[in-house]
Amino acid sequence: PMSLSDPVKPHRICVGVRKRPLNKKELAKKEIDVVTIPGNGALLLHEPKQKVDLTKYLENQTFHFDYSFDEDATNDLVYRFTAKPLVKTIFEGGMATCFAYGQTGSGKTHTMGGDFSGKSQNSSKGIYALAAQDVFTLLRQKRYADMDLCPYVTFFEIYNGKVFDLLNKKAKLRVLEDEKQQVNVVGLQEVPVSSVDDVIKMIERGSACRTSGQTFANASSSRSHAVLQVILRRRNFLHGKFSLVDLAGNERGTDVSSNDRHTIVETAEINRSLLALKECIRSLGQNSEHIPFRMSKLTQVLRDSFIGENSRTCMIAMISPGMNSCEYTLNTLRYANRVK
Ligand code: ADP
Ligand code: MG
Repeated sequence: PMSLSDPVKPHRICVGVRKRPLNKKELAKKEIDVVTIPGNGALLLHEPKQKVDLTKYLENQTFHFDYSFDEDATNDLVYRFTAKPLVKTIFEGGMATCFAYGQTGSGKTHTMGGDFSGKSQNSSKGIYALAAQDVFTLLRQKRYADMDLCPYVTFFEIYNGKVFDLLNKKAKLRVLEDEKQQVNVVGLQEVPVSSVDDVIKMIERGSACRTSGQTFANASSSRSHAVLQVILRRRNFLHGKFSLVDLAGNERGTDVSSNDRHTIVETAEINRSLLALKECIRSLGQNSEHIPFRMSKLTQVLRDSFIGENSRTCMIAMISPGMNSCEYTLNTLRYANRVK
């Protein structure tokens, strides 16, 4: 059981870790759970109680994050402590970003709410929809209602360093940077929305587009970053932007066994973008002048999220609890640890 008090005023960067339950397949294989969440943001990666040789991977290791969520945590709870405190930022003219990071199958899409077609979930219960809900609640509040703010959504995918519009039949888009370093995704559909239902329709349309036309839908979507943005405009000018990012699976980083050229290129691109992301978030946290956003398409497109007085980021690192995943889990925990 967790002992979490109400979230405090958000720092510029918040890092949470979420452990999913062992699934049916893992239980059938009698996988051992090697992750314990004792509370207070701590997470213990430990030797299993049964005697198995794990020395190859780990000795008991404890990590500390702003929040650690165990397998009983709902999306709603995770949202409340991570992305929710950032919603206000976009009303105050700032940029907010929420990243779901982790190995394929660890629960990124489940947490974000981009797997509407699944049996166990629908999009109305993920962070995408929960954040949209709060945006519309704030839009109706007195102090913001008179500001003339108009909400829009975009939804796109970055695969192999290329941008595809998920709200426009996966049209391939060009990314241009002007002399003021402003980055523009040319032709990206920005759809006006007037209710949470409108947003959910776009999530569903984009999610379907993300996995359509692919024989190995999951495999393929696990190698791309999906970015849903809720944008507030005031008299057509950008006021604030909330980017919700379902990142590519990070497991490729350790997979050096492949000698398929396509996979190698893909892997290199994912590694580059995740490394760039870490560097950019760190720069944001250190209020650094130099933000290496050109290191990857992902960070280039998200450039304005890493600058400005009023930019805030949260990262939710997803982990699988099973012993067979512990090498990946350790990678994820180390990455999440270094972001801040
Ligand atoms: P990823 O997007 O990281 O590849 P998914 O979100 O698709 O992983 O999750 C893989 C599977 O595990 C899905 O069937 C999903 O519904 C399930 N799952 C993930 N996280 C949880 C959770 N916290 N509770 C219950 N089921 C989960
Ligand atoms: Mg996914």
